[in-house]
Amino acid sequence: MNIYEKFKNEISIDNIYKDMSFLVDNVGERLSGTGEMEKATKYICDRLIENTGVGRIDHFPMYMSYPGEASLELIAPCKERIAARPVCHIDSTPESGLEGEVVYLGSGGYEDYAGIDAKDKIILTDMSWSPARPEKARIACEMGAKALIIMNWGASDSDLIQMGAVKTQWGNPTPYNEKEIIHLTVISISRKDGEWLEKMCSETKVVVNIKAAATREWITASQPVGRVKSNADNDEYVLVGSHVDAWGKSAICNASGDALNLELARVCNKYKAELQRDVEFVFWDGHEIAEGGGSTWYADNYWADMSNNCVAYINIDNLAIEGTTVPGVEGQPELKEMLTAAIEKIFGTKGVWHQAYKGGGDSSFFGVGVPYNSFATEYTDEKLIELNHAFYSPWLHTPDDTIDKIDKALMKKHAQYVTYILDQLANSKIIPYNLKDLGDDIKKQWMWVTDKAGRAKNLLSALDEIVEEYRTKMSELENMKSKDIDPALLNKLSLLCERETAMFRCWSGKYGQDGCGSLQTEKAIPALDYALEKYNDAEVYSHEYYLWETQVLRIRNMVFDELNTSINFINLMVG
Ligand SMILES: [Zn+2]
Repeated sequence: MNIYEKFKNEISIDNIYKDMSFLVDNVGERLSGTGEMEKATKYICDRLIENTGVGRIDHFPMYMSYPGEASLELIAPCKERIAARPVCHIDSTPESGLEGEVVYLGSGGYEDYAGIDAKDKIILTDMSWSPARPEKARIACEMGAKALIIMNWGASDSDLIQMGAVKTQWGNPTPYNEKEIIHLTVISISRKDGEWLEKMCSETKVVVNIKAAATREWITASQPVGRVKSNADNDEYVLVGSHVDAWGKSAICNASGDALNLELARVCNKYKAELQRDVEFVFWDGHEIAEGGGSTWYADNYWADMSNNCVAYINIDNLAIEGTTVPGVEGQPELKEMLTAAIEKIFGTKGVWHQAYKGGGDSSFFGVGVPYNSFATEYTDEKLIELNHAFYSPWLHTPDDTIDKIDKALMKKHAQYVTYILDQLANSKIIPYNLKDLGDDIKKQWMWVTDKAGRAKNLLSALDEIVEEYRTKMSELENMKSKDIDPALLNKLSLLCERETAMFRCWSGKYGQDGCGSLQTEKAIPALDYALEKYNDAEVYSHEYYLWETQVLRIRNMVFDELNTSINFINLMVG
């Protein structure tokens, strides 16, 4: 029997339900820094120790926000009070509130503002997957809006109000990126009230008064972690993470994920003598309101270990939502082959592939260069339209995210999928990256970005040759898997090359953290894309033109260095 079969047979759905029930029913809402969070993390750490013999809770400072109260009063065309909750990491209003005209702008992306003067208006938007909530707020702020109202997704008659935060800056701020935190008042309302307001806006001038309060403060985070050690003679490890902090009782987001994470730890520990690599199990704090606060701290604090040894990060969240049927996986191109083959193996269907960008998951490791993946089943397109694009269910971040929203049979399949991926990453002799796919992705990004080079064409063409050389080298390295190469050497080379990919994954560079759902990070070589746009927009030979020309050159050189370093590693080690 192979290790996956042993893992699969050992996974207990009863254990998963036991731990999930404790978090949902005995603890309930788990906001960072509260007594409930302390109770949840103590329980998880105790269970981790019970399951593996090891476990501790890391404590560290984290920048947090707590919701106060909010109100929304309709002033014109009629007087009405609408139920509202504050979003976190916002500017609280003065006692008298903020008054203004409401303009409905769809999803609240840049294209929705075309031809609209949003200055001093109160913008009403739909909750939608893109732009993400913090990005909607950032754009509203950039457009000069006075405040933002986000109506929930879900069925048109739903009274549920979704909680959330809009800290566009990811993890704890630094003196340099604190300024990225936007200053805007944002509130949430239900779908039912939102559609009513939207309809009124299409017919007449709508004026409202908004009051909202939320704090901004430093707290002490609590993050359980434990490592199951293999007997292998390397220090490599796979990181498996699930967030503990949660809005509402949160079975979907994310007591189910924590329960599966605990069970995986137990199973791994049972078969640790057979593992090829260690597995580190971590239970994130600060995922929700601190926007990746715990995972960012983990990357900053354990940088050297991650950089030297971490093979991949498996994110566990939003498992087995009742009514979802389409298996979908999000990841980086070098993992695509393995992740999609796993869908075929476990679900007997092709499934859907999404390239990972800085978004909803704890994707804090793009800079250090550790590949990310996250799996969930999704609604069909028809169902999504019916639910007004409630991608992670209409119950997300509401009191209705309870255990009955988890499909037990589907939960078993999810557990099998994550177990299979973990086995592939922890036990394959050669790390299952497809390096040809990595080289092809980087070449593709280069083609896309140089396509819009405009007046920077000549500045960038100097790199055409090295991009092609990189692609060829990656393809050669991939072919070496079938030849007589020392797996340990190939793994080391693969990890070294992974660490040289930040320019292709991040806008803020290797040591920065892009904002949650930042649209710019979806562009090819995001920093270069941005600089090219500014350079081409500037008046020729103006001050701005010369500033951006310098910036284009510097980013070009950062891209060169990453490619060149990888090529040099390969040449030194295998010629
Ligand atoms: Zn979640």
